[in-house]
Amino acid sequence: MARRVELGGIHSRALDVRFLFAYSVRMFEGPTNRKMFVVTCKRCRRDVPTSVSEFPFQSITVTCCLCGEVRRYLPSELFLGRVDQLVLHQSRRQH
Ligand SMILES: [Zn+2]
Repeated sequence: MARRVELGGIHSRALDVRFLFAYSVRMFEGPTNRKMFVVTCKRCRRDVPTSVSEFPFQSITVTCCLCGEVRRYLPSELFLGRVDQLVLHQSRRQH
């Protein structure tokens, strides 16, 4: 009887640690993976960030941060989404 109670205590403590770990990971990824205006690079086909914070009404020039391609993109080619994982890895390496 006493042994069963002890095992139960260990089990619930392990769950608490796992919950806290998952929570802190989500907090860490939150700010870097937020939605922004992105375009799909015409050269490397990756979703890269643009410098605009509001939806533009004319074409904009975007320099791909992954392959360096400079292109003009129409507003219809812009979308609110998440940048490619590679962009996140690259910006983490630079800082
Ligand atoms: Zn590119």
